[in-house]
Amino acid sequence: MTKIRPETQLVHLGRNPTFTQKGVNPVIQRTSSVIFDSVEDKKHAVRNRANGVLMYGRRGTQTHFAFQEAMTELECGAGCVLYPSGAAAITNAIMSFINAGDHILVTGSAYDPTQNFCDKILTGLNVETNYFDPLIGDKIADLIRPNTKIVFLESPGSITMEVHDLPAIVKAVRQKSPEIIIMIDNTWAAGVLLKPLLFDVDISIQSATKYINGHSDGMLGLAVANQRCIETLRENSYLLGQTADPDTVYMAGRGLHTLPTRLKQHEANSLTVANWLVEHPSVAHVFHPALPSHPGHAVFKRDFSGCNGLFSFQLISRLSPKQFSDFLDHFSHFKMGYSWGGFESLILGYQTEDLLNMRQYDYQPDSGSFFRLHVGLEHPQDLIDDLQRAFERI
Ligand SMILES: *Cc1c(COP(=O)(O)O)cnc(C)c1O
Repeated sequence: MTKIRPETQLVHLGRNPTFTQKGVNPVIQRTSSVIFDSVEDKKHAVRNRANGVLMYGRRGTQTHFAFQEAMTELECGAGCVLYPSGAAAITNAIMSFINAGDHILVTGSAYDPTQNFCDKILTGLNVETNYFDPLIGDKIADLIRPNTKIVFLESPGSITMEVHDLPAIVKAVRQKSPEIIIMIDNTWAAGVLLKPLLFDVDISIQSATKYINGHSDGMLGLAVANQRCIETLRENSYLLGQTADPDTVYMAGRGLHTLPTRLKQHEANSLTVANWLVEHPSVAHVFHPALPSHPGHAVFKRDFSGCNGLFSFQLISRLSPKQFSDFLDHFSHFKMGYSWGGFESLILGYQTEDLLNMRQYDYQPDSGSFFRLHVGLEHPQDLIDDLQRAFERI
């Protein structure tokens, strides 16, 4: 068969006729109970519950199976588990593989709630977390202990955008201790720009709230696992009560078909805005992995197939509280808000102490005020004009 390119693959994914019933899109099937024809039929459902046979609503319906099949193919895995949010996907993936007394290693620029889960919940369960420098590479081997169960990655790191040397980290972990489960928060890549399971990562986790759904109107999480981990991930997440509603799953599946097209426009717009910021006299650094000036650029180019609309920049100077508000409070297009991956542009601001609170490694930021942008699908010149007016306000 000829090689199918990502755009074509994503038009087809999740549209198996079993799910679409002669329509273009999968059916939205809402049910809690599944009605069995006979004792034999019930036994069959229980035996085949992981293979697309309905057993109970919490195990998923045709709508879930369609999206799970799509994500399994997109992320090159053996199966996909769904969760009500990206945060639930992260915490349940971790919970599925630990016991009291275990130790886990987590990247020091992980998404803040991931760190808080480790510090507040895992600590209470007698599971110890050590954070590491995202640029650690093969030196991660030195941090592995006999009781280390999980290595948790995220690349580029939330907000500060460090890019892991993924092959070096995976190789070092595998050589030292092959049983360790390697997980990555792959939300930034949306399953398109990086294929972690092809790098021998065990579990790729995403917030489908972001680019997959893509319209800022649904919360959903997912984890795609390889053969070695899927059964434990599926069963333990089920025991922890994880499920997702079919309407949101349907929207996420619909989002997949336009994902590469949207990502390309986010990429083009973000590069236009980033290149403008690079030239701005008040800007000290632009943290965008697709810019050659980014410290992780070489690794990024080797491992990723493109970028998206999310990046950060830092000013030369620290803004006073009044300037900070003046800068952030009056944008026309960049709205101030958490999350990202929708069609719209967003901005968040940080001072050095905010960043230090979120970085669990020897992070030494400059003192300038720091901003994270999500560049949306507006015309980039309108976004640049919006930023220009913000600079004029300070
Ligand atoms: C948003 C986000 C999450 C959490 O996803 P929710 O769907 O909001 O729970 C996890 N990881 C990263 C990197 C994120 O940006």
